[in-house]
Amino acid sequence: MTIQTIINKAIKRLEDEGKLLTPDFYAEAFCKEASIAKTNVEDCSHLQKYTSTLNKEFQKELQQYRIKTMNELTRFLVGRLNRTNQSVCSETLEAQMMFTKRVLQVVAELHNKEASILADKSLALLDSNPNIAQIEQFRQHWTNFITTYDSSFLQKIGIKDKNDLKKSIESIEMNCLASDSDLIASEAMHNVASLLVSSLVPSIASSVNDKIANLSHKIRRKPELLSSPAIEDEIKEAIKLRIALDKDSVKEMIESLDGVLDKLSIRLIEMIERSDKSTVEIEEIKKELEKHNEESESSKINFKIAHKKLYTLALALEESTKNLSVDLNEHNNEVKTLSKKIEKLERQLDEARAESKEDFLTKLYNKRALDEFLAVKEAEFERYKHNYSIVMLDIDHFKSVNDNYGHDAGDAVLYAFAKIIKNEARTVDIIGRFGGEEFMALLSETDAKGGVIFAEKVRKHVQKAKFMYKGKRIEVTVSAGVSERERHSSLDNAVKYADDNLYKAKNNGRNQVVYK
Ligand code: GH3
Ligand code: MG
Ligand code: MG
Repeated sequence: MTIQTIINKAIKRLEDEGKLLTPDFYAEAFCKEASIAKTNVEDCSHLQKYTSTLNKEFQKELQQYRIKTMNELTRFLVGRLNRTNQSVCSETLEAQMMFTKRVLQVVAELHNKEASILADKSLALLDSNPNIAQIEQFRQHWTNFITTYDSSFLQKIGIKDKNDLKKSIESIEMNCLASDSDLIASEAMHNVASLLVSSLVPSIASSVNDKIANLSHKIRRKPELLSSPAIEDEIKEAIKLRIALDKDSVKEMIESLDGVLDKLSIRLIEMIERSDKSTVEIEEIKKELEKHNEESESSKINFKIAHKKLYTLALALEESTKNLSVDLNEHNNEVKTLSKKIEKLERQLDEARAESKEDFLTKLYNKRALDEFLAVKEAEFERYKHNYSIVMLDIDHFKSVNDNYGHDAGDAVLYAFAKIIKNEARTVDIIGRFGGEEFMALLSETDAKGGVIFAEKVRKHVQKAKFMYKGKRIEVTVSAGVSERERHSSLDNAVKYADDNLYKAKNNGRNQVVYK
């Protein structure tokens, strides 16, 4: 490739890159094209030729400052040379120092926190007479800051023109204010709408009317409707409806309250009947109602009527309960007097029973009478040696009579059996019921033999007798034991002997008389 072609390409490149045809730009473009064309042009290696002769420290510095053209190299070297001139150098340095401080002061005042902190620190550093390493460190901090700084946040908050930040921010504020007032207005409207909707919901009635529901939905969806006059009539109508619904509910409640009152009055009357305690309970209800009366001053008139009804009822019931309880107390006293009389009568009856000698069921002598007769007989025996025999009789298996035919049947058998003994005995003989289904006969002037004869007669009679109860025949037998007084040393022994014989008769198979 000829030099002319390289020159043409370099000029074209400058055109493409929109650069002016200055000697520096031209030299740069020419050398790039020469290197692409792999043509070694001496002018292009000037920079390298000179820099390679410098010592390593300078070379490193040149790299740091990215010196690429001869022009830059010349400026660098002139600067270096100037430093050797003490007075010029220190003046320049001082001026630069002042300039740097001003810049830093400005940066410290700017909006970026990171930058202002770094600026403050840098100012402090400059005042502290820093060494080169310290300055180098801060230069690095600033490099880091500028490479990581992101200015796109301005766009994010809507600032497009970063050249006039103040103006942009003022316009944003204006926008904000304008949209805020709209927002506040619509928010207020929204609040009013939801208040209105909730005030349309009936407070007593349990359900919402369709019309109210529709209107509520409409207002909720579009609160701004509230500012239109057309909606006013609809709201008025809905309020009327709401009141009507509540009124209906109150009416229903009062009707059911009436029902409750009826039931309550029945319950209260039951309470009165139940006990004296009800007076206290009713008084409590009354107090409760009085309390509610004070509280419900502002409540609805209908509730007051219902309340009054209940209160009057409670008063009436209280009165009648008090009367009733006075009556009950009077009656109670009468009942107490009567029960005392009954107690007295029962005592007298017991005494009379104790004095009686007759067995209530069989009309024979009872055990008490038998004991008294035995004592008389004993006295006669001791004084006059009047002998007598003792016969103990006991119905066989009498328990099964009760079990099979019932207790009444048992009583009937006892009564009939008593008649049989009475019939078989002489008038002077003493016949009594010793207990249960056991009988005793005291036969005057009769020895054991006579006693056995009497007992046998009874036994046979009983065996033959037809004990009938409710059309049923009951088979009955009797066992007996006999003793004779003069054969024993004491009355007790004589009685015991008769008893032992009865026991033997039972053991020998019953339905028999034993004397031995
Ligand atoms: P045993 O042949 O050994 O005498 O048998 P028992 O069943 O006659 O004798 P026990 O002493 O076991 O039962 C006597 C029964 O007599 C039990 C009791 O219910 C009945 N009894 C006692 N007094 C009366 C009474 O006045 N009326 C009635 N119906 N039963 C009575
Ligand atoms: Mg018996
Ligand atoms: Mg018995």
